[in-house]
Amino acid sequence: MKPTVTYPCGNCSQGLERPLDGSAPAACPQCHTEQAFHPEAIVHGAVTRCPICGLKVLFTQKDFRQAIGCVVVLIAAVLAPFTMYLSLVAAAIIDFVLYQIAGTVVICYSMTCRSHVRGVPAGASVQPFDLSIHDYYRSVARKAAAGEQPEDPEDESAEI
Ligand SMILES: [Zn+2]
Ligand SMILES: [Zn+2]
Repeated sequence: MKPTVTYPCGNCSQGLERPLDGSAPAACPQCHTEQAFHPEAIVHGAVTRCPICGLKVLFTQKDFRQAIGCVVVLIAAVLAPFTMYLSLVAAAIIDFVLYQIAGTVVICYSMTCRSHVRGVPAGASVQPFDLSIHDYYRSVARKAAAGEQPEDPEDESAEI
């Protein structure tokens, strides 16, 4: 799997997907804004920072496309009366297998960024999703939206 990052364009919020192979990313096709990737995003072949906003606080998640799981269940539900409901059992098994084979995605906690990095292993500091960290960044985003100066968690001297 090739390393990629998906993120909303910082200017027009258009969803973009770019290879994360050290090459300079192409400009946004909609507004032509150029997005530079953070040079220290990948260290020793692992993600340690968000390539888009440089945030060091990231989490990992199974890259399970929920939409596929929903379609499987929907088809199974339609077929259920004709299969003595065995289709629902089959759907549960298919969903389970899909989940198991799903890769891992590394996601930025920043509410405005939410970049998704695929195809690169997570760095040692990257943990599974933590609701308290998520709440913290949500409050930061709310304060920023209200025009207040958020405390800067990205201060270089403050290691999180
Ligand atoms: Zn754009
Ligand atoms: Zn980010």
